Amino acid sequence: MFKKIIIIGAGIAGLTIGSFLKKRNFNNFRIYEKSEKKENVQSGIQVPPNASRILGFLEPRFFNNNNFIKQDYLKFFSQYSSGMYAKMKISDVVDDKTPYLTCYRNNLLQVFDQFLGANDIFYKKKVVQIKKDHSYSKVIFDDGSEDFADLVIFADGIFSQFKKENNLRYSGYVAFRGVIKNFFSENFDSFNSISLWSGKNKHLVSYYTNQDNDISFTGVTKDYENELLKDITINFSNKFSTEKFKTDFKGENKNLKEITDNVQAVLCWPIYYLKKNIFFEDNQIYIGDSSHGMVPFQAQGAAQAIEDAYILQDEIFKNVTTNLGVFFTKKRSDRVRNVILRSIMNLYVFHASFFVTKIIRNLLIKFLSVNFLLKKYYFNKLFNYNPRNTSYYF
Ligand SMILES: Cc1cc2nc3c(=O)[nH]c(=O)nc-3n(C[C@H](O)[C@H](O)[C@H](O)COP(=O)(O)OP(=O)(O)OC[C@H]3O[C@@H](n4cnc5c(N)ncnc54)[C@H](O)[C@@H]3O)c2cc1C
Repeated sequence: MFKKIIIIGAGIAGLTIGSFLKKRNFNNFRIYEKSEKKENVQSGIQVPPNASRILGFLEPRFFNNNNFIKQDYLKFFSQYSSGMYAKMKISDVVDDKTPYLTCYRNNLLQVFDQFLGANDIFYKKKVVQIKKDHSYSKVIFDDGSEDFADLVIFADGIFSQFKKENNLRYSGYVAFRGVIKNFFSENFDSFNSISLWSGKNKHLVSYYTNQDNDISFTGVTKDYENELLKDITINFSNKFSTEKFKTDFKGENKNLKEITDNVQAVLCWPIYYLKKNIFFEDNQIYIGDSSHGMVPFQAQGAAQAIEDAYILQDEIFKNVTTNLGVFFTKKRSDRVRNVILRSIMNLYVFHASFFVTKIIRNLLIKFLSVNFLLKKYYFNKLFNYNPRNTSYYF
């Protein structure tokens, strides 16, 4: 077993692995985070069943409060016509104990507060360099201080600076995100639904994030107008023109119009991904976005970070030391690759723009929605992945 573990980054990946280490009584670890604790950007997040299952291992029923919404349906619309073309019940393909959830990202992070305290997470500590000796690594911070560990886990997100090769790529797509507080609609019954509007080279997703009726929306469009967006600083709090967002996304659908009419502020997020998935280099392990930052069109980025964290801590407790990176890669690479493929495929499905491809897309989604067995087959491996039952690896 490792004597001391350092985790770089207190995002979803870092907090998940830290919480599991703590829960299983391994106390000799430290999480170093470059920012302050408070996350200012208000945005929603989808927590699919494969992630809620693992978070449930930490704290069963962590979602039984006003900060989480259980989602029963996926609803599909077109931006250019009224009415919905498919309504897919997703709650019937997953266990009630592992629901499809939505919430504010901050509320998801709060789940970890009961496990991790001031002796575990150190904020405003930016790691700038790692120096390796044969049996330990020296971690050096921007304030000149140092720490040592025999295992360093990189959970420092998609812009991780520590790999030998920089394989960060701009996707050419931009996300526009925001929330509408206390959104109430008489004609749009969507409290337990995730709604998706497809358009030409764009789509918009919305869902409720809490019992106070706050709605989160994410519009994604091809960056065909403003190549400069890729150069704006990547802090995910760049304000974008609300009027321009409304013009681009309003469309003809009455429910969509109702949402866009209520938008008051929009933040802009250029979408990046990593060309190559790297789970380890030498004795350094990468988890979450630092390993396999992906385009977010399957809403699985955080979920895969949570899966990584669970699998890695499990290997650590199995006393795997010398070949930890190899064992970890073996258990994660196929699954992550499959999720990334689904994510990319979704982009083409959501953005289909030719008449014939749109008709085929709508028919296929309709068919998937009404055919229980097909739906179960399609979602089973993704949502019912259970790391405590190895038959679910894929
Ligand atoms: C538009 C959009 C929508 C998304 N929606 C969803 C969704 O609905 N569901 C979902 O599952 N996923 C979603 N994702 C993906 C998800 O947000 C990420 O996959 C997830 O946050 C990755 O977690 P992480 O912990 O690996 O990285 P991060 O959350 O990026 O955390 C990395 C942490 O490391 C810190 N750090 C970085 N460098 C250093 C350093 N040198 N020293 C110390 N600390 C450092 C950072 O400050 C940060 O806190 C979405 C992504 C986008 C872009």
